[in-house]
Amino acid sequence: MGEVAVCYNPFMLPDLQMNDVVRLRKPHPCGGYEWKIVRLGADIGLECLTCGHRVLLTRRELNKRIKKFIATGDGRPLPTR
Ligand SMILES: [Zn+2]
Repeated sequence: MGEVAVCYNPFMLPDLQMNDVVRLRKPHPCGGYEWKIVRLGADIGLECLTCGHRVLLTRRELNKRIKKFIATGDGRPLPTR
């Protein structure tokens, strides 16, 4: 029996929109796991919901770090994978 993979297809970039909230695999030093999308572009801007710190990640990097979607900012259904 292997690990049960609750995984994102690493070749598929997440369908992100502004204000979506995602949970990352590792916590921010402040202890927060949840981040809001604040910038979309070649790099994705994320704001920590716990402390308000902002970071920029490449889509590829973010795709590796996302654990799950928590909420969408525009009310569309949560992306499922
Ligand atoms: Zn934080």
